[in-house]
Amino acid sequence: MTEKLYDFAVIGAGMAGASIAAELAPHAKVLVLEAEDAPGYHSTGRSAAFWEECYGGPGLVPLTLPSGGYLREHGFLNQRGALYIGRAEDKAKMDGFVENFAGTGVTIERLDAGGLRSKVPQLHEEWCDAIYEPACADIDVAALHQHYLKALRQGGVDLVCRARVSDLAREQGGWRIGTERGETYRAAQIVNAAGAWADTLAGLAGAQPLGIGPLRRTVVQLRVSPEAPADQPLVLDISGGFYFKPDNGRLWLSPHDEIPSDPCDAAPEEMDVAVAIDRFQQVTKWRIEAVERRWAGLRSFAPDRLPVYGPDPAVSRFNWFAGQGGFGIQTAPAAARLASQVLLGLEPDDLTRAIDPQAYSPARFSAQKARRTG
Ligand SMILES: Cc1cc2nc3c(=O)[nH]c(=O)nc-3n(C[C@H](O)[C@H](O)[C@H](O)COP(=O)(O)OP(=O)(O)OC[C@H]3O[C@@H](n4cnc5c(N)ncnc54)[C@H](O)[C@@H]3O)c2cc1C
Repeated sequence: MTEKLYDFAVIGAGMAGASIAAELAPHAKVLVLEAEDAPGYHSTGRSAAFWEECYGGPGLVPLTLPSGGYLREHGFLNQRGALYIGRAEDKAKMDGFVENFAGTGVTIERLDAGGLRSKVPQLHEEWCDAIYEPACADIDVAALHQHYLKALRQGGVDLVCRARVSDLAREQGGWRIGTERGETYRAAQIVNAAGAWADTLAGLAGAQPLGIGPLRRTVVQLRVSPEAPADQPLVLDISGGFYFKPDNGRLWLSPHDEIPSDPCDAAPEEMDVAVAIDRFQQVTKWRIEAVERRWAGLRSFAPDRLPVYGPDPAVSRFNWFAGQGGFGIQTAPAAARLASQVLLGLEPDDLTRAIDPQAYSPARFSAQKARRTG
């Protein structure tokens, strides 16, 4: 019997793999291979679940803003608001932040100490400056992931779990794909949506790794007294030392850690939990009653911290959809639409018209290298 030949084999079924497969499905025969027992086990299942217009810097705003429209329209967002906070000595950083985002289309306003205190009364007095972002929202990550997985089922995509790809071999018209359990599949094109394993997968295909490095991030769930109001904004340190937000009567707190890691099933380290708690106690008047949960996940960044979407410049039929860093959920709708249009040669639409695909193309790394050596 001849093996089925797919147009695209997407490797990884986290938010990246599920969303791009859903976008490809109406146009092509698509296979998704996922190493774990179920999709979403790694970074996608461990996020802090917010959509924040400025997160990741101005280079991501063109992806974040249209994605926000899609997420809102489909009911995946719950308005929360965000506050970047600073002390008197952070004034230059606060001013720089506002300047950095001027003209990008984000909505931010400066609050004085009184304005900040009215939104977060539990902060210590030294925190006296804030940038308020009213549009920031919580994302229902599980529902968004399910939305894309449902689109896969409806679009006739074959999703195979417990299928860790361990071999990629060239053959006439595309690729022969082998898994650790000995199954083989055939596809004309590969889409690398392997998250923290993106460079490892590239190595199997003979493509040059791009330097996509996984960084571990820790989150703890606290029971605090008094209870954090449900509508309190997400609070982020302008210097990147912590963030916290309410979740169902509890607080989710992160020390904003970025610890280089191998691709793995990330687990929280006691030291990072201790650092988170120490910073929180220095910044707020809340009393911690219990640390109820702790988890960690990997955020995987390309060297310039922008995502990588599109065909590999040297290995034909090998495509990147990786480097989703700390923004892979909030940018998923526009990112997946854009990348599918690039792969299929389709025109941009309302979701992607304002995005320059070259800004996220893997070819930018070869161009940078040529400039350095030229
Ligand atoms: C603590 C934390 C907080 C975060 N908060 C936010 C947030 O608030 N908002 C936001 O937008 N983003 C956030 N992020 C980032 C977001 O979670 C990621 O950008 C996103 O989940 C990346 O999705 P992915 O599909 O690329 O990766 P993953 O979800 O890790 O999926 C990759 C998949 O590829 C599979 N795979 C790997 N190698 C192979 C192989 N050889 N064969 C088959 N399958 C393979 C893996 O098993 C995995 O399931 C956060 C991340 C962390 C860790």
